[in-house]
Amino acid sequence: MRNMPAVLVVEDEPAIAELIAVNLRHNGFRPTWAMDSASAQRELDAAVPDLILLDWMLPGESGLSLAKRWRSESRTKDIPLIMLTARGDEMDRVAGLDAGADDYMAKPFSTKELLARVRAVLRRRGPDPSKELYSVAGLSLDAATHRVSFYGEPLKLGPTEFKLLQYLLGHAERVHSRAQLLDKVWGDHVYIEERTVDVHVKRLREALGAAGTMVETVRGAGYRLTAKPLAAAVAHEKSGD
Ligand code: CA
Repeated sequence: MRNMPAVLVVEDEPAIAELIAVNLRHNGFRPTWAMDSASAQRELDAAVPDLILLDWMLPGESGLSLAKRWRSESRTKDIPLIMLTARGDEMDRVAGLDAGADDYMAKPFSTKELLARVRAVLRRRGPDPSKELYSVAGLSLDAATHRVSFYGEPLKLGPTEFKLLQYLLGHAERVHSRAQLLDKVWGDHVYIEERTVDVHVKRLREALGAAGTMVETVRGAGYRLTAKPLAAAVAHEKSGD
């Protein structure tokens, strides 16, 4: 399945969650359902989705409080977010948008309108094609000068590894299947085995040296570039054990 945007649906009412999920699936999205704040957080820790649909009224931590928290954390702050709620008055709409929601839908809503808003938010929040400088946790890539460095130390990468790293840096923390990487990095019209991706990921890790651990294998899913293991290594070093 190529290019299907992942949508995390955080909704405690199974009937509504199911309705949303079915409509998303029928329209080319990959929905995941979390019924409370704790499971939503677990889903986010596992993978960063392309968009979040977040119900305001949840058992435990409210959707509003979750939205504020996610907006304050670097790993989740840029995920497009639409709030869903039974509350429709203007004060609540303002509170939702103030918390960092990209859009707001009052229940009951038409699934058609929801899909239209999902697409609109994804279009607005799409990656900037003019972007040339990428940097995650000390690992930087300059597309204009074709330079890669890790904390200022230059690194030498082959052309495919460079393109692969550029894509991964541009979509950091997200899991990409081998098919998605083939599609995005090698292009749609070439026939290459998915195993080729593994070969280039291996080369990329070697070329990155100490930053190689940032390219993570996600079992059964694919690869992602993450700042996490590096942060853990630094913390470990600082703790002195
Ligand atoms: Ca609810």
